[in-house]
Amino acid sequence: MRILVTNDDGIHSPGLTVLAKALSKLGEVWVVAPDRERTAAAHAVTLHKPLRVQQLGTRIYAVSGTPVDCVNLAVLKLLPAPPDLLLSGINRGVNLGDDVLYSGTVSAAMEGTILGVPSMAVSQEGQSQFHFDAGARYAVRIARLILKEGLPDETLVNLNIPNRPFGSITGVRVTCLSRRRFDNPIIEKMDPHGRTYYWIAGTRVSWSRSKDADHEAIEQGAVSLTPIHLDTTNHGVLDRFRKWETVRRPQARLITGSSKLKGKQRN
Ligand code: MN
Repeated sequence: MRILVTNDDGIHSPGLTVLAKALSKLGEVWVVAPDRERTAAAHAVTLHKPLRVQQLGTRIYAVSGTPVDCVNLAVLKLLPAPPDLLLSGINRGVNLGDDVLYSGTVSAAMEGTILGVPSMAVSQEGQSQFHFDAGARYAVRIARLILKEGLPDETLVNLNIPNRPFGSITGVRVTCLSRRRFDNPIIEKMDPHGRTYYWIAGTRVSWSRSKDADHEAIEQGAVSLTPIHLDTTNHGVLDRFRKWETVRRPQARLITGSSKLKGKQRN
């Protein structure tokens, strides 16, 4: 059993160390993680400069790139064979709702899924003091289930853990992604030279889309488990948009022949 561990907080983050140690019960752990913090790197890939890899210990590698770079290098180059499981985390702070669109932690797990590796992102609520031991115990529990039962096609798990001691977490709840609203998201200030600068920040003030919402589970002291699908197509509205189509549907291609149709498609 081979398990890849990565994150977006950087290779020296305690959340990663605690997770890697806990997973060593299940198999051979490989750590391939960014050499510095890459929070909010989302799904960025480094294409225009070289990536450097530094081996820091047995099966521990620091990469001068993004979380998604790390997963690619690990799965396609550094490991002797693709891993049986990928875990990304434990992130400092939750990745709930549309956080998943910005999160390097979640993107690393998405990249694992794209490469065919069963993958899970693990994040823990909190600002500075984290009960990572509790988070790791739940991560291992769900990792065992993934190894035993597998994951559906193109699906990753987004696990968020409330920041409490293990004994006071109320259990695991299956949830949906919510949406958050920010107050004052762009901060405008003046630098010492009198020039204006901006800081994207703001505080989260409210949530919407609350049926089985992930943030509710966390607020109520439960672990939130959201299955995320790679296909973000809005299948329910396809018919509404079909009337915008300007090319004939594929049946026409079969009748007309592919070379003739090519010219007509460009109108
Ligand atoms: Mn992070």
